[in-house]
Amino acid sequence: MNQNGLTHPIFQLVSEASKSLGFKTYIVGGYVRDLHLNRKSKDVDFVTVGSGIELAQAVQKRLKNSSLSIFKNFGTAQIKTADWEFEFVGARKESYDRKSRKPKVEDGTFEDDIHRRDFTINTLAISIQKDDFGSLIDTFNGLSDLKNKIIRTPLDPVVTFKDDPLRMMRAIRFASQLDFKIESSTKEALKSEAKSLSIISQERITDELNKIILSPKPSIGFKHLFDAKLLHEFFPEMVKLQGVEIREGKGHKDNFYHTLQVLDQICERTEDLWVRWAAILHDIAKPPTKRFVKGEGWTFHGHEDKGSRMVKPIFARLKLPLGAPMAKVRKLVQLHLRPIALTKENITDSAIRRLIFDAGEHLDDLLILCKSDITTKNKLKEQRFQKNLRNVEHNIALVEERDRIRNWQPPIKGDEIMNLFDIKPGREIGIVKTALKDAILDGIIPNNYNDALKFVIEQGKKLGLQIHE
Ligand code: ATP
Ligand code: MG
Repeated sequence: MNQNGLTHPIFQLVSEASKSLGFKTYIVGGYVRDLHLNRKSKDVDFVTVGSGIELAQAVQKRLKNSSLSIFKNFGTAQIKTADWEFEFVGARKESYDRKSRKPKVEDGTFEDDIHRRDFTINTLAISIQKDDFGSLIDTFNGLSDLKNKIIRTPLDPVVTFKDDPLRMMRAIRFASQLDFKIESSTKEALKSEAKSLSIISQERITDELNKIILSPKPSIGFKHLFDAKLLHEFFPEMVKLQGVEIREGKGHKDNFYHTLQVLDQICERTEDLWVRWAAILHDIAKPPTKRFVKGEGWTFHGHEDKGSRMVKPIFARLKLPLGAPMAKVRKLVQLHLRPIALTKENITDSAIRRLIFDAGEHLDDLLILCKSDITTKNKLKEQRFQKNLRNVEHNIALVEERDRIRNWQPPIKGDEIMNLFDIKPGREIGIVKTALKDAILDGIIPNNYNDALKFVIEQGKKLGLQIHE
């Protein structure tokens, strides 16, 4: 390694500040790994044999337009510029005692610090002393594992995972993000230590899970999670999707592998974490709704409704946000069969308007989910299904252009209805409002003020209401 990649002026500044304090400082971990993978990273970790906080203070004095945060309890400091983040920490040694979950942390040498790291590819370091600035330190053959695309723990994997079970999630996360293989004894240890994941907080597990979901091909990660039985520890509903049952010679598809294929396919269409979550959960209620109907075969009647009701409890347990993201996933699961239903012949405009209204702001994401939900191996069938969905999309665009149903607001609001008939809030208002909405969505009257007013007056009359002059 030469100075290539260390173009930011901070590397020289840290080198100088470190020398003036009499410390030795190294760039470690993800930044070094990503430099060799040509992945652009703007998070840099510095380890110094000395005080990370003192070093950061000295660096920040020399760096314009930066801010410094100090975390005294952790002995770390962070400098931020407009688009970079630099972390400073003193070299440390960690020792684990089976009786406690937390390691004993004490000051250590550079070697101690490298030995406590999780994977060989994360043990790479770059020295930034003046006399060897930019030289690579590769204690555990991390470079060779990087070239061969291998995730391997530097020390005994069983001990490594026992010490900190979160590393199992990290191993799989890196395998999924980087498309690396997990070395066989490391993979074995994932299986034997899977149960110890229970001591890790759900927030930290979910953090890694979301990184897997945001990787280019999340099925890599999910297959590892399933094979090691880590998934069983925190996401049993998804595990239940796996398997095929055969009766009277009729089978159904394996919904676990189907879901993974939908997830991989949706990742080619969207970076949105929540739309990706909708792919994971779209068939989640297939196991609890599965029935065998004699002479017909397997049905999963109502799995979209039941599935949408499962979203909130799953989000709550996994400590995922329960506000707008959950509502969006729930809606997408609820509606995931509707666009397919519109590929049949003789579809009315009113059915299309209903879908536009029900999906609201999530219509585009819903269509992305539906296109990704096609997993037939028959190429001709696949082309036909995709074409049908493109037709639906086209028809939706035509209806929307004309009727403006999306983000639809009734042309006449409740208080206007109250004024019109001089009535107080009550049952009648609701009846008239619903009738108006249905009339517009069903195309009985056009979506404009005058027609709506006429309609509302008629409806009022039917309820025995008089217009207030
Ligand atoms: P990214 O930032 O892309 O998630 P990273 O490798 O930088 O990847 P961080 O979580 O930022 O990951 O951690 C920085 C470094 O600290 C890692 O490269 C690794 O050397 C070490 N590390 C982080 N978490 C652990 C852990 N649980 N056990 C051992 N070492 C760890
Ligand atoms: Mg990092």
